Amino acid sequence: MTTIETYDFTGKKAIIRVDFNVPLNEQFEITDDTRIKAAIPTLKKVLEKGGSLIIMSHLGRPKGPAEKFSLKHIISRIEEYLGTKVRFAEDCQKAEAQVAALKPGEVLLLENLRFYAEEEGKPRGLADDATDEEKQAAKAAIKESQKAFVAKLASYADCYINDAFGTAHRAHASTALIAKYFPKDKMFGYVMEGEIRAIDKILHNPARPLTAILGGAKVSSKIGIIENLIDRVDHLIIGGGMVYTFIKALGGKIGNSICEDDQIETAKSIMAKAESKGIDLALRREVVVADSFSNDANFKIVDNFEIPDGWEAMDAAPSSLKLWQEIIDNSGTVLWNGPLGVFEMPNFAKSTNAMAEMLANATKKGTFTLVGGGDSVAAVTQMGYADKVSYVSTGGGAMLEYLEGKELPGIKAIRE
Ligand code: AMP
Repeated sequence: MTTIETYDFTGKKAIIRVDFNVPLNEQFEITDDTRIKAAIPTLKKVLEKGGSLIIMSHLGRPKGPAEKFSLKHIISRIEEYLGTKVRFAEDCQKAEAQVAALKPGEVLLLENLRFYAEEEGKPRGLADDATDEEKQAAKAAIKESQKAFVAKLASYADCYINDAFGTAHRAHASTALIAKYFPKDKMFGYVMEGEIRAIDKILHNPARPLTAILGGAKVSSKIGIIENLIDRVDHLIIGGGMVYTFIKALGGKIGNSICEDDQIETAKSIMAKAESKGIDLALRREVVVADSFSNDANFKIVDNFEIPDGWEAMDAAPSSLKLWQEIIDNSGTVLWNGPLGVFEMPNFAKSTNAMAEMLANATKKGTFTLVGGGDSVAAVTQMGYADKVSYVSTGGGAMLEYLEGKELPGIKAIRE
């Protein structure tokens, strides 16, 4: 397979899809530039190897061109990190002249791809009362005009790089469809390579024992991962609010704790599968409960099968953390996704923060640790441990789908 390392970029124009979907404040200032920083090594490599760059990305969820979602707001930050001037094409479909003028070592940023509905290939502006026929016709029309949209982007370049893991689970024009124009000249950037390597390590060749820690509020959003991982892991720690669907399924008293009644059967089948695999979910444990869903609520520690009426589970108790610490200390690989309590409230963020620290310590001792999912990533970052774990996945939805064992369109398009 072609890689950035082996490809000869000399005199070539590379079109690269990055994920520069960074948060901006009211003044259009970047409030977190992690995603820009992450793509810089790939961008620099192409320039160092004698190529020029046409950078494309989306920003936010515009319904058409809008100042608020313009990528011009981030030009100076890219220039700062790349140490070179970045030209800007105000319309990603009308950049021919700027592309033609591009010389080796030069950089052109295309305006937000999602200013065009063709990027996602979904019709816009359909009336609420549109008939099924009208919807079908609009879908067919956008799929048709999407072909010209992709062809135009592809016409700008000699090769294509996908470095946007965050959108790899979408079959959009710039993330997947464009790849077919570059049958031999397509490759992953370093962000993509790193994400794929880290998750493949969990799925295919983990140092044993492999422990997965899954938290968060909803069984329904984690079910795909649990089902895919249960055949692979040695230990599965289920934490956070989703535990209470399991405990209710087992007949425990959960008070006001969060629970998805429609997932009770799912919880039962997961427990049966875990038992058949010899995995001890150790669901009965102590828990920190509160008398209201508030940081200032009264709280106490109780048995999580005996939560009193009017109280609800908010955080894992120190005794659980002690148990989990032992499991982690003896693991070769640990995956963590999802907070272990209501970590947005400082009084109930203790176990989530403690987990971040435990993983940082385990990493020091040689354990491979992968942290993914917005909330757990926020916890390791806030605690200053982002560079003290083996890998922090920025993928969000893409990471979840990859862990579920799905083939992501953005990855498939490069590999096939
Ligand atoms: P998810 O999107 O399913 O990963 O869930 C993330 C959310 O789970 C965060 O906003 C946490 O506050 C929430 N969460 C974690 N533990 C609990 C709990 N015991 N009760 C209610 N919410 C929780």
